[in-house]
Order: sequence, then structure tokens, then C-alpha cells
Amino acid sequence: MPPNSKGYRGRLAPSPTGYLHLGHARTFWIAQQRARAHDGALVLRNDDIDARRYKLEFVAAMIEDLRWFGFEWNEGPDAGGPLGPYNQSERFPFYRAALDQLQAGGCIYPCTCSRKDIAAATRAPHATDEDEPIYPGNCRSKLSSTNNFQPATRFNWRFRVPDGETISFRDEHLGPQRFVAGKDFGDFVVWRHDDVPAYQLSVVVDDAAMEINEVVRGADLLKSTARQLLVYQALSLPPQKFFHCPLMTDKAGVRLAKRHDTLSLRKLREGGATPEALRQGW
Ligand SMILES: [Zn+2]
Repeated sequence: MPPNSKGYRGRLAPSPTGYLHLGHARTFWIAQQRARAHDGALVLRNDDIDARRYKLEFVAAMIEDLRWFGFEWNEGPDAGGPLGPYNQSERFPFYRAALDQLQAGGCIYPCTCSRKDIAAATRAPHATDEDEPIYPGNCRSKLSSTNNFQPATRFNWRFRVPDGETISFRDEHLGPQRFVAGKDFGDFVVWRHDDVPAYQLSVVVDDAAMEINEVVRGADLLKSTARQLLVYQALSLPPQKFFHCPLMTDKAGVRLAKRHDTLSLRKLREGGATPEALRQGW
């Protein structure tokens, strides 16, 4: 149990890669309700690390949509706060320090495989569009050093998982969870070849630095939580609690995604919907 001297600290961490939809709003609403129930603080973090995918117009839209829907945060890119900056694009030194620490600890190795190489070496029976194929381990034996590479060599830094080890945690909503490293997921990328930290690293570094003590997010990230617990351990950081929410689906049972334009908060608002009506039954 992490020390809780500051009380409950939760967060909303949207990525500005498109307009927020009703599914995001519902997960965030649960996060806000939990922060309020604990008389705690809510942090808004702009997860704009992936510069290839995000667009500046979406950042402003995101904040506007959140406010319209009734979200209020205590710290954030617009509100400031003691543990900022709250834009991931401004937090590179934190990620770089964590990468150095992982490298010094021998937890990561450079991987030169392309997606094609990995696809060719994996049959990936469990792979779905929500998850990545299990890395076959081609580059595992490489030294945890890049000295033997030509400067132009492109590589990802990959986290070496302890094969066969069970990672278990108790989800605050879904109860006991259990994943086996090397079977449910393989070695994962923590730093991309285009010099961008991967989600699994940036989210751990930020949640720890921002003293978040409960993460509320979608159940599609349960397995990522197991990965991230390994990163916490490797960085000697205490993990927070997790509360994973069931994902919202459309009428056909398909999980909502940013491509569900008609269910974006923008479109719903343009169509005359009110936040109160949209929250009916939540
Ligand atoms: Zn590789």
C-alpha cells in the first residue's frame, strides 16, 4: 500500500489523438466520482507524447469538451500545479532518467526487429487488435549497450520480462488479477526507435512523479498493468492502486473508439445532448 499522506490523488490522462467520445467520458466520470468520494484531488494530464499521432487542435478541444461535460480538475496543463509540467511532451527529462535507470539495471536491451520480423517469427494465437504479439526474443542476447551499433541503426529499447513469473494484483473493481510473463505478454518496448518513450514507460514515470495513488482506466489496459508493475519494480517505485472499468460498446457491441465520430462529445453536443442526459444511468 503506497503512503497516502496527501490523500487520494487520481488522474484523467486523455491523448489528444482525436475527439473524446462517450466511452472516455464514462471512464473519466468514474475517476472523478472516486476522487470526490475520497475527498481527493484530480489531475489532468495531457498524454501528448506521441507527436506522430496527436494534433494541437485536439488539445484545446479536449479541454473544452471535458469542461463542458462537467469535469473539474485541481491540477493540469491549464490549471498548473506543484507536480507539473502536465503535458507529456514537456516531460522528456523524466523519461530519459528512467530509461537510463533501466539500462543501468540491465532490464532492457536494444531490439532491431521490424514489425515484419516479429510478425514472421510469431504465430501469435492470442494476438488481437487490442494487444501486441508476444516478442519472439530474437534480440534478447544482445548486450544492454548500443556501443556496437552504427549511429544510424534504428532500434527500440525492449524490457526483458521474467519468463514464467506470475504477476498478480488486486484490481479495486475487478478483483484479483493474474498474468504470466512470457505467456500472456512478452518483452515490450519502453522506448521507440524514433526516440519517443513508449506508453508503458511514460505512464509509470508520470503516475509516480505526480503522486497518483489510484489509476482509473479501461479494462483493455489490465494486461498493461501487469507490464507496468514490472516497470515499477525495476525503477524501485511503489505502484498505486488500479480500478479498471468495463468498456463502453455501441449498439452492435463494438467497443467505442475515436472512429465512432457520432458518439464524440462534440457531435453529441452539436446534436443538442446535455451532459446530464448523457450521464443517465451511470
Ligand atoms: Zn529484436
